[in-house]
Amino acid sequence: MSVLIFIDINEEGAVKKTSLEVLTYGARLAQQLGVAAEGLVLAPVKEELQALGKYGVQKIHQVQNDALAHFDAQVYTKAIAQVAEKTGATVIVFSNNTDGKALAPRLSARLKAGLVSGAVALPETNEGFVVKKSVFSGKAFADVKIDTPLKIISLNPNSFNIETGDGTATVVPAEVNIEVPRVKVVSVSRQSSEVPLAEAALVVSGGRGMKGPENWGILEDLAKALNAALACSRPVADAHWRPHNEHVGQTGGAIAPNLYLAVGISGAIQHLAGVNRSKVIVVINKDPEAPFFKAADYGIVGDLFEVVPKLTEAIKQLKG
Ligand SMILES: Cc1cc2nc3c(=O)[nH]c(=O)nc-3n(C[C@H](O)[C@H](O)[C@H](O)COP(=O)(O)OP(=O)(O)OC[C@H]3O[C@@H](n4cnc5c(N)ncnc54)[C@H](O)[C@@H]3O)c2cc1C
Repeated sequence: MSVLIFIDINEEGAVKKTSLEVLTYGARLAQQLGVAAEGLVLAPVKEELQALGKYGVQKIHQVQNDALAHFDAQVYTKAIAQVAEKTGATVIVFSNNTDGKALAPRLSARLKAGLVSGAVALPETNEGFVVKKSVFSGKAFADVKIDTPLKIISLNPNSFNIETGDGTATVVPAEVNIEVPRVKVVSVSRQSSEVPLAEAALVVSGGRGMKGPENWGILEDLAKALNAALACSRPVADAHWRPHNEHVGQTGGAIAPNLYLAVGISGAIQHLAGVNRSKVIVVINKDPEAPFFKAADYGIVGDLFEVVPKLTEAIKQLKG
């Protein structure tokens, strides 16, 4: 019996931050259930996996297979299912990030395991297995009971603090039978930006209040001073002021940075749906009644064309 934790690796071969949250969460859950905490790595990785033991995981199953070099949800699901069956996992934990969203439901169907996606806390296990999850774009919580013997949880990014101890994990090779993928990737076109949005810790985002693409220089300067990624509201991307990969919200990317700085964005519910898991939200808007202020931790009421350059200057001075 074990909690199996899927460890996500980025394109550079490094363990994603969301995986560190999931490792901590999975290890705490394993402790709570009195079973082993085990990790699973499928993609090529450049880091020392033993060191991940400090997040509480005792063993890491590492599959090394060329067919897993690039993420393919169908192939990955089959590989995870095989390892889960071999190791006798009772709970499988993912991050509810892009990869987790593609894998957890597939695995749930394949292994007939109950799934709670978007979990925000450890399950209550005194009476059954009840997981708290975020619903209605973060506006409410639901407690969901899983009754199946095998359970799957995907944890919302930024909802569980990373904890470290001094453990070391044992890394064991794992074998899986992988068939030729049914879907063949023929080319990959990578959107390049100075700081990739999905994994960024700090994000500066612009809305229609920016008036036009010619004004984005002040946001780029601010993002550079902070070493932040750039994002935008949907009308901005629809008007081709900014590329669509920067669009966040219900119909765009969902992000959970430590800081989301919204400039000239009104804060419509569809926009908030993609950013309300950010740790700290700062809003700059000239309208004190802008709905975004209700979701903000800090707000500046003022003209962005005056506020943003002053903020950039202050940050530069602070960094000195
Ligand atoms: C089905 C559906 C899905 C949608 N999905 C998304 C989505 O994924 N993402 C998304 O963003 N939207 C989405 N929308 C659109 C959403 O409803 C809003 O229309 C949109 O978010 C508004 O964008 P905005 O805040 O940039 O523009 P606006 O609503 O026009 O707001 C501009 C803001 O800038 C402020 N401002 C203007 N000038 C200045 C200045 N000089 N200084 C400071 N502040 C200033 C204004 O006070 C205002 O609050 C969706 C809508 C629908 C119906």
